[in-house]
Amino acid sequence: MTTGKIGVTTENIFPVIKKFLYSDHEIFLRELVSNAIDASQKLKTLASVGEFKGEIGELSVKVSIDSENGTLTVSDRGLGMDAEDIDKYINQIAFSGAEEFLAKYKDTANSIIGHFGLGFYSAFMVSKKVEIRSLSYKDGAKAVAWECDGSPEYKLTECDKTERGTDIILYIDDDSKEFLEKSRIETLLKKYCRFLPVPVIFGKEQEWKDGNYVDTDKDRVINSVEPLWAKKPSELKDEDYLNFYHELMPGMEDPMFWIHLNVDYPFTLTGVLYFPKIKNNIDIQKNRIQLYCNQVYVTDQVEGVVPEFMMLMQGVIDSPDIPLNVSRSYLQADGQVKKISSYISKKVSERLDKMFKEDRAEFEKKWDDIKIFIEYGMLSDEKFCDSARKYALLKDSEGKYFTFEEYKTLVESTQTDKDGNIIYLYATDCEAQYSYIQSAKSKGYSVLTMDGQLDSHFVSLLEHKLEKTHLVRVDADIIDRLIVKDDALKVDLTAEQIEIASDLFKSQLPTIEKTEFFVQLEALSQQETPAIVTQNEHMRRFKEMSAMNPGMNFYGEMPDNYSLTINCDNASVKKIITEACSAIEEKIAPLRNEINQLNSSIEEARKADEKADTSDNEAKVAELRKQQGDIIAQYATTIPTIKQIIDLSLLQSGLLKAQSLDDFIRRSYSLL
Ligand code: ADP
Ligand code: MG
Repeated sequence: MTTGKIGVTTENIFPVIKKFLYSDHEIFLRELVSNAIDASQKLKTLASVGEFKGEIGELSVKVSIDSENGTLTVSDRGLGMDAEDIDKYINQIAFSGAEEFLAKYKDTANSIIGHFGLGFYSAFMVSKKVEIRSLSYKDGAKAVAWECDGSPEYKLTECDKTERGTDIILYIDDDSKEFLEKSRIETLLKKYCRFLPVPVIFGKEQEWKDGNYVDTDKDRVINSVEPLWAKKPSELKDEDYLNFYHELMPGMEDPMFWIHLNVDYPFTLTGVLYFPKIKNNIDIQKNRIQLYCNQVYVTDQVEGVVPEFMMLMQGVIDSPDIPLNVSRSYLQADGQVKKISSYISKKVSERLDKMFKEDRAEFEKKWDDIKIFIEYGMLSDEKFCDSARKYALLKDSEGKYFTFEEYKTLVESTQTDKDGNIIYLYATDCEAQYSYIQSAKSKGYSVLTMDGQLDSHFVSLLEHKLEKTHLVRVDADIIDRLIVKDDALKVDLTAEQIEIASDLFKSQLPTIEKTEFFVQLEALSQQETPAIVTQNEHMRRFKEMSAMNPGMNFYGEMPDNYSLTINCDNASVKKIITEACSAIEEKIAPLRNEINQLNSSIEEARKADEKADTSDNEAKVAELRKQQGDIIAQYATTIPTIKQIIDLSLLQSGLLKAQSLDDFIRRSYSLL
């Protein structure tokens, strides 16, 4: 028998292992099972190069619990270890500068374990004593037993093990009794070992017998040894991908499509990413990509490891280049991992590009469902954005799809305004904004549909990315002011007529809670409707933004501002204005004269002395204006068509509701 002291620096490492790793105690099982798998794989390798000539037999890893003795055992039939191996691989913890390292990283102790190959020692997180019994594959090897109670002293003896391989026996600590529970171990094995490449056995298959589940004599294998992502894409059918998906994501609907990543250079990386159908915001949750390292589960906390936008996807990524056993913060800081992340993003983009090029019709069919992924990607990942511009699509109100380039070519000649900006018109709800879309189309303009969950952000992105291009919603203003051309028509009315006309309409506006209207006159064409309600683009975007951002609630409380544009080229409007002017001119003329006189004297007084007190006269003007307004309002009530025109324009924009809507319907009947 030999006794000795483990390594040089272990006196410092044991307390770290025991105490600092508190939160992640369960990973010891992953470590031990991974080692057992490694040992099995190594034996296969030795056999394949002719260094091992014996019988490999059936390689499997067995996990078992002995609750009587309070032990958990992980056994393998791998290459085993002799005394020399144990000394080399277990006793001498193979890294230098451990103390320095520990001092630096004592807060992120979790990262030490995997990084420096201390996997085996994680057994001490849950054990008061650990025993190794091993028989090496080497000819004439003697079986050895090693034991250690967590102090730096170990014992190494010969033993009577007759089968090749290694048993790791953990004498579970009193405060870790949970790891003697069958269900707990089963859960852990399912979590970490589901796709390991060697069968992992835990207990027996059960069958239903005489009203009870009883063990059969068939071993129960926890894992599927060749998961889908490890197979060649050419060997797989759609059905295989779908089955695997449902195994991974039970209870989900079929995904739309998937991408099988299979990369050898500059990283080794395999994986399958599924694009699920996202129907509403609740579906947008994260952590549905699992990260593996050589089929060993690492984490499903993939933030920072895969590109942000891919968090909407589901599936697995497996790379031996992703450091195993490390904490998330460590993963995120790892340079290699960052490169992997941007590489995945590039691969996904290439795949989408290929789909687009190979079968555009099919790509267009999927577009509405996949656009959320691509838009999210473009919004959150600059590089992805640049590459996605080749295949990202814009859809018009008729359901036709265009690439960015194609769309620009389509609208450039017609929708460039007098300042040389190209104006993209869009609708967020083609039904509600129907008449605005029609009026844009009647001018020969195209309207885009932007009704997706991310489209309000995407609109800003487009504006930012496309040169000299502005996006405005079709109902943001009358169409001639959205795309301003040189030949805009002039309003053919005197200043007095304009004043009367706007008072006429202003006085008849219904009051709608938290809504304000601004009335203006404009010469639209004769074919256009008499009046049109619009909402300023900036104001609307601002309110939308604040609605999404709780901190900006104050702005959300502000009233909605709309413009009511009266089309004075329209025959009915013309008639109303002319008739009104002649009907009330007599009453208004004297008021107007008085106002004009008062205004002139105010002006003169100010000219003489900048600080002259003109408040008396100003008050008089205000009073006279009010009288004038009252006269106009009074007259307006006798002309039901005014209210009718206003209500029709409110109806058109979806603003006519409740009492106002009821009034409108009643009035319409009475006019019949
Ligand atoms: P790593 O697996 O990263 O090398 P570990 O601390 O997990 O670090 O294991 C240290 C070494 O101990 C392994 O590299 C291997 O040589 C040896 N070892 C551990 N477990 C076994 C086993 N079940 N069979 C054979 N060798 C093992
Ligand atoms: Mg290991």
